[in-house]
Amino acid sequence: MAFLEAEMVCSPVSCYPFSMADRFSPAQRSKIMRSIKGRDTKAELLVRRFLFRKGLRYRTNDRRLVGSPDIVLPKYRSVVFVNGCFWHGHEGCSLFVLPKTNSAFWSDKIEKNRSRDAKNISTLISDGWRVFVVWECELRNRSARDATLEGLVNEIWALE
Ligand SMILES: [Zn+2]
Repeated sequence: MAFLEAEMVCSPVSCYPFSMADRFSPAQRSKIMRSIKGRDTKAELLVRRFLFRKGLRYRTNDRRLVGSPDIVLPKYRSVVFVNGCFWHGHEGCSLFVLPKTNSAFWSDKIEKNRSRDAKNISTLISDGWRVFVVWECELRNRSARDATLEGLVNEIWALE
């Protein structure tokens, strides 16, 4: 599977495929894949901890909702997706660079993720949910992170 042929390069909050020969063992590789596809990424934990400190309570990865949003705040009928810029194809973002090898594969894959995200978001909105998306690049350094998270919390509170 072409998916596994790219190397991963990790930033403080997420991992990306990196177009060079594969130097990971299968065990290392599956650990990396789990960290990408799995739950509780660093970025998600950052957002959750911040919301919790502000007194907001939430459910995580609620599978009952379309797209199983990373964070669900039932009291505010709001959901938060914490998106990795590569996997979710953050338009115009410096963290979203297609690998040079298998680029057709990657652009197809990312395009599918993007249209799935868009579809999920519009379904949630028509079901009466407020949808927030926090991008990984908005959490990269302290000042960006503080501004993003304060802004998010203020918007959620404004719904009360
Ligand atoms: Zn981004």
